[in-house]
Amino acid sequence: MDKKKILILPGDGVGPETVNEVKKIIDFFNKKKIFNVEIEEELVGGACIDAFKIPIKDETIEKARKSDAVLLGAVGGTKWDNLPFDQRPEQGLLRLRSDLELFANLRPAISFDPLIHASSLKSEIVKGLDILIVRELTGGVYFGEPRGIEDLGNGKRRGLNTQVYSTDEIIRVAKVAFELAKKRKKILTSVEKSNVMESGKLWREEVEKLGKKEYPEVDLKHMYADNCAMQLIRNPKQFDIILTDNLFGDLLSDAAAMLTGSLGMLPSASLGTINNGNYLSGLYEPVHGSAPDIAGKNIANPIATILSFSMMIFYSFNNKKISQIIDNSVKKVLYKGFRTEDIMDKKSKKVGTNDMGDLIIKEITKNF
Ligand code: NAD
Repeated sequence: MDKKKILILPGDGVGPETVNEVKKIIDFFNKKKIFNVEIEEELVGGACIDAFKIPIKDETIEKARKSDAVLLGAVGGTKWDNLPFDQRPEQGLLRLRSDLELFANLRPAISFDPLIHASSLKSEIVKGLDILIVRELTGGVYFGEPRGIEDLGNGKRRGLNTQVYSTDEIIRVAKVAFELAKKRKKILTSVEKSNVMESGKLWREEVEKLGKKEYPEVDLKHMYADNCAMQLIRNPKQFDIILTDNLFGDLLSDAAAMLTGSLGMLPSASLGTINNGNYLSGLYEPVHGSAPDIAGKNIANPIATILSFSMMIFYSFNNKKISQIIDNSVKKVLYKGFRTEDIMDKKSKKVGTNDMGDLIIKEITKNF
């Protein structure tokens, strides 16, 4: 494997604990010469505020730009809750996403058989589920102008946000989804509200045009967002990849995630521009936050962070084999009945963060 540079940003709360388990896996791969990975580590979020009074340093953004990929633990915590909005730990993460132009957010929802009871849906509906939500991350109503709260006088006010998408923004994220569809089942469902929103009408027309012109082999379907929410609960296995905008993606990816059970199991990737089939930048992080209620107790589930690292190997390093070895090792440990507290059931053996990481590494080593 070529030399790769990973920037690690452990962050706050359980972030450093779960990231530590990934560092152990990287050490193993480096020692076995399966990888040639150089790690740099920097502060982000509350930890960076405590040390430098800002949620992320300019040098860290530069290091992120120069790295092949970034792994983030989590940011935030009650300690920094009273800071003004623009100085809070989350700003570090938002700046990384916008400065690196990470416009495509990938959130897989995969059901692991041994954890099937953790889903709130019936087992037959989620058994074997493996879907991927591609959410546009840097545009739409969360960023559209004008925005604000106006004073209308007489004690009345008006809140305003703007849902806006341009052709370029739609096409670049749609290309990511089509490219991924080519590597999976060649089925893509594009989701919007073109029945009531002009931005949705443009979204549908541009995705349709792109599909016909550049990806005729992909079976493209369109669906209204409200119907998609319903179908995700009714029959989620009809989907393979769902492509959608920032707002609908925010809601649908959380709903899809919960089909599989625990927050401690959910990885994510945020990707930037594709160049010759490679993503120029990628930020990998668990979906969960810093979990201050359980931080420092060696009980956090490290699997979401480990699976995020596996996504890094798949998407940024183009190494499907190693990524599959990690995913299968996680499955094997679960099949053997080992669980952290968040996914515990009566029949299983409870382990801590450290032990869960070690058990996964033990399974990984069996492949080499
Ligand atoms: P959270 O995801 O941190 O925790 C929600 C619940 O899930 C808690 O009960 C927690 O103990 C549990 N949990 C989370 N991760 C777990 C893990 N790996 N193993 C076992 N249990 C786990 O969400 P929250 O409590 O709403 O937020 C806490 C802080 O995290 C806040 O400051 C919030 O702003 C921040 N946050 C950060 C991110 C991020 O860094 N991307 C995302 C969400 C929230």
